[in-house]
Amino acid sequence: MHTKYRSFLGNCALVLVLVFIVSSGVWAEAPVKNVILLIGDGMGINQITAARLSLAEGAYAVLNLDTMPYTGFSINFAANNLVTDSAAAATALATGFRTDTGRLGTLPDGTAAESIMLKAKERGLSIGLVATVKVTDATPAAFLVNADHRAFERDIAAAILEAGPDVLLGGGADAFGINPFTKKPKSNALILKALEQGYTFVADRDGLLELDITPEMKLIGLFIGGDLSFELTRLPTEPSLLEMTGRALELVSQNPQGFFLLVEGSRIDRAGHTNSLKELVGEVLMFDQVVGLALDFARENPDTLVVVTADHETGGLTITGGDPAGENVTYAWTSTAHTGSMVPIYAFGPGAERFSGTLQITDIPVRIAELMGISPFPALRE
Ligand SMILES: [Zn+2]
Repeated sequence: MHTKYRSFLGNCALVLVLVFIVSSGVWAEAPVKNVILLIGDGMGINQITAARLSLAEGAYAVLNLDTMPYTGFSINFAANNLVTDSAAAATALATGFRTDTGRLGTLPDGTAAESIMLKAKERGLSIGLVATVKVTDATPAAFLVNADHRAFERDIAAAILEAGPDVLLGGGADAFGINPFTKKPKSNALILKALEQGYTFVADRDGLLELDITPEMKLIGLFIGGDLSFELTRLPTEPSLLEMTGRALELVSQNPQGFFLLVEGSRIDRAGHTNSLKELVGEVLMFDQVVGLALDFARENPDTLVVVTADHETGGLTITGGDPAGENVTYAWTSTAHTGSMVPIYAFGPGAERFSGTLQITDIPVRIAELMGISPFPALRE
């Protein structure tokens, strides 16, 4: 065959292959570049209702959450218990697998599962985690660690460092070997390893707010030995959830490849356990401000998906009476533990409609992964 003719045929074949690939979507750009996943620990529908009722307009008030266009329900039970804990729920949200309570990123038989956040990191995205409890607590840890039990705190802290998040903000300085008085590392402190790895470390609110965030920066902020305080009684040395999220977002959004940011309103749950309505409302309203910040970012950066959900409800809170202006509202708590009720899902951004309806908790990361073009997911670790 004539060489020219052959190369013409070759080109035709190439064009056909390209047309097939493009039309089949194999090369199509994933619609979502950035993900902001916001988890209200213990935030059921009535926790949100209570926060709305506390505002000046009472039942007529509009939370940032209320403006989100797509909503759904998450069926959230654990593999071994109708009532889940944060570890099993966060594992479901991080890996797409249901597991037993207490487990972090592992199946009931101990098999380690891939985290959507670490899959995103493998693809060059920046990853960040913000919480108002210890960063070794169940929700942040499930996205970075595979462990048989959430209680192995020092091992979890070491594994978190090994996972190498670009930004990690919250409580839990004790587990990283920070002296609670001097705020300096003790000898052999885990945080020294982080500094060796090139992390910047901040120990208080001023340190975080005054920090010059630069591209390539890796940041750890641990603001108290254990869990942070409730928003209503926050210490001057502790940043708010909104402040932490703002700085984390500034850092991860410098990556042109995109990012996966997890923010947990962790202490909604703690207020539920003690049936403290005032503290609960303070936590939910602060969390809702974070929702507002995420929505502002997503409006300016339309390839950003914002998903808000909860791991479980805490306290069995109900609203038993009152008037629409929000006066004389009466509440009842039916528990000081978690309950088995469904929890809400809210979504905004490209593909947000895929989070409406009644979903299994494990569907949430699977749909996020699809929208980000991450596959295979869910997947087990080799
Ligand atoms: Zn709890």
